[in-house]
Amino acid sequence: MAENAKRNNYDETKYSMDTHLIYGKFVTDKWDYSHHVTAPISSSTTFRLDSVERGAEGFMRFAHTQEFGDKAPIFIYDRLGEPNKDMLEENLAYVEKGEMAVSFASGMAAISAVLGILTKSGDEIITHNTLYGCTLSLLTNWYPRYNIKWSPIDLTNIQNLSNTISEKTKVIYFETPANPNLEIIDIAEVRKIVDDVNKTRTEENKIKIVIDNTFATPYCQRPLELGADFVVHSLTKGIGGFGTDMGGIVIGRKKYQDLLQLYRKDFGGVLSPKSAWSILTYGLPTLPIRLRQQIYSATKIAEYLNSHPKIEFVNYPGLPSFKFYELAKKQMRDFNGNFAPGSLIYFVIKGNTPAESKENGRKFMDYAADYAYTMTLAVSLGHTRTLLEHPASMTHSVVPPEELSARGIDAGGIRLAIGLENPDDILFDLEQCLKII
Ligand SMILES: *Cc1c(COP(=O)(O)O)cnc(C)c1O
Repeated sequence: MAENAKRNNYDETKYSMDTHLIYGKFVTDKWDYSHHVTAPISSSTTFRLDSVERGAEGFMRFAHTQEFGDKAPIFIYDRLGEPNKDMLEENLAYVEKGEMAVSFASGMAAISAVLGILTKSGDEIITHNTLYGCTLSLLTNWYPRYNIKWSPIDLTNIQNLSNTISEKTKVIYFETPANPNLEIIDIAEVRKIVDDVNKTRTEENKIKIVIDNTFATPYCQRPLELGADFVVHSLTKGIGGFGTDMGGIVIGRKKYQDLLQLYRKDFGGVLSPKSAWSILTYGLPTLPIRLRQQIYSATKIAEYLNSHPKIEFVNYPGLPSFKFYELAKKQMRDFNGNFAPGSLIYFVIKGNTPAESKENGRKFMDYAADYAYTMTLAVSLGHTRTLLEHPASMTHSVVPPEELSARGIDAGGIRLAIGLENPDDILFDLEQCLKII
């Protein structure tokens, strides 16, 4: 802390999370920038160490946060830690109600890191049937090489979990809402079953619950408060918010921070400081205002689609007709406790046969790609622009057609990720696109 740095005398717990996301930790041990209004961008791969002693101290402290606590860090080299990433981690841990956060180059780097520290050869991972496409690919294409077994089950029927857990189970992993069909899993129920099994296990062997909270963002849901051990995010989506930078984060208990930092150092999936800065400066401060607008629009659009004669069904956590509406109301709450059903909608276009439904879906998508101003045919979500994708042929193309339904995906299913446009303009475009089928 520089001598002229001003320590603020405020108690940040007295302010709302919306405001905290704008100010963050104005004076932080991670970096003294008390004379900047916006955190400066740090762009240095390596750091001057002043003396051999200070260098030795820095290496000794690295990934020993348990012993050295929150002492002002000694930065050594970007891959070990640097100011912009550290500040982003501090803020994300705070907003997700976690004790610590470790950032990564992408959501997939974060997911592979948390699974990497929690499993070894011979262990088993249980997941929900429906998962983000690359998480599925990680578990099916790579984990067999490490002799880590994957058991996908329907976690919306919690009985399945008790029946599947074995001595070797180390991790229960799921998304809620799940990608792409938005199925919702009862976090408290999973916690109960896991607690029961963990009673007879040593600390080392206790099963951990890991939740991918990318779809909800911490604005709509804080899984650690609901019973998860770890939360992962793709920062590329709603938290980044503008579609300009990739990133990932793992949030959880302090005792795992060192392992995650070591994993990141050795596997090398570090978040770029410039991306960390963008997410800290643009993404986090605007998260509440973006999500409020997106939820408002998504609710309006989901209601419109739900009453449209050419639509088979609509899944949106905020629709009373949605199978998981009551559970969504329990779990998805904004910082003030209001129901916050998120920015994603999944809907299926009608057809007399699955093939016709798929063909209608394709026609709809192609027409939208050519003529819709406010719906862009693209993967990703949580953007300023509304994005539209067809999971069966795009994000989930790794799933063979005969397995699609087992993975919770309809051949004609379409995922709509609402942006910041005027919702009436999106409705206008949807109307035009639905006319042609
Ligand atoms: C995008 C996404 C990921 C992967 O994140 P990347 O930043 O693209 O690596 C993981 N889970 C979900 C639910 C996602 O939407």
